[in-house]
Amino acid sequence: MEREAMPAAAVRVRVPSKVNLFLGIRGVRDDGYHELVTVLQTVSLHDTVTARLDLDGRTAHPASRRFMHLDFTADNGAAGELPVDEGNLAVRAARALMAHCGIGSADGQEQDHDGPVTRLHLAKRIPIAAGMAGGSADAAAALVALNALWQAELDGAALREMAAELGADVPFCVGGGTALATGVGTSTAQVLTRGSYHWVVGVSNEPLATPEVYRAYDRIAAPSGIEPDAVLQALRTGDAEALGAALHNDLQAAAFHLRPALVARREAVLDAGALGAMVSGSGPTIVGLARDLMHARRLAAALEDVFDRVEVAVSPAGGPELVEA
Ligand code: ATP
Repeated sequence: MEREAMPAAAVRVRVPSKVNLFLGIRGVRDDGYHELVTVLQTVSLHDTVTARLDLDGRTAHPASRRFMHLDFTADNGAAGELPVDEGNLAVRAARALMAHCGIGSADGQEQDHDGPVTRLHLAKRIPIAAGMAGGSADAAAALVALNALWQAELDGAALREMAAELGADVPFCVGGGTALATGVGTSTAQVLTRGSYHWVVGVSNEPLATPEVYRAYDRIAAPSGIEPDAVLQALRTGDAEALGAALHNDLQAAAFHLRPALVARREAVLDAGALGAMVSGSGPTIVGLARDLMHARRLAAALEDVFDRVEVAVSPAGGPELVEA
């Protein structure tokens, strides 16, 4: 008789954050969502999501259609408030996958069933509410980890579909790499890139809520009409100088309006010798492009007193990576 393969008891996924190398706003839809054209690239500032199946004497195979309990914990190594309840995007992703597999509800309401426990743990390093899609990255990591742990066997397309329900940046975070996103950001196409880029990442412990930045944009800014062509061309040729000159973010003015201190911090990155510098996404993180790793390290040393936290990172940084099974 053939024995059923034993499921993995634990999986660990390392997931990168992102920068928007280009972010252009094309208009506002009737429902209030902004239409974007954006070039996203993953950067090597990572969170780690671990998922562990605790059968505790129970016999359920994770792929069997039994009720699953979810226990979520987090270790916050980034400054800032991290929800550790149903509000965490990793938990919302887990609930969505549970509902899809028929082993729990999307809102986690039915807790009194008997069943195995999945322990989901988030080790947080990506700055929070900082324009680096940390929450979206964690949602993507949870989907990838639990898809493996529960042997749910969703393929890439199905995972991205579920991801789109969780947030605009989540489908990109599932795939990683470099992508051109349009619409409200969920429609993505991979972009051809050459080489890698080294960054100094300047973190400010003054969170900016993305909706607040869009509201400020609506009040004070107008679409620039700038196209992503120069960024795409620089990526095709692997030309860091050209990329530095082409970096563009239509939301930067709104972030500066809400956090005026960021203006001088960006200037400091340029004065230190970066090839280009801008607010990442909705901010307040400022990224500066360096010529190479040594240059990025020199920039980081020079900018230590300008930001609350300074990191050196490389892009593109792949996607969610199963590092342990
Ligand atoms: P984006 O670049 O996609 O606009 P962001 O990087 O600015 O996002 P996040 O770090 O993703 O912002 O967090 C935005 C908010 O989402 C936080 O203020 C926090 O309350 C909530 N949140 C929920 N889950 C998470 C998570 N796993 N990590 C970080 N924030 C989370």
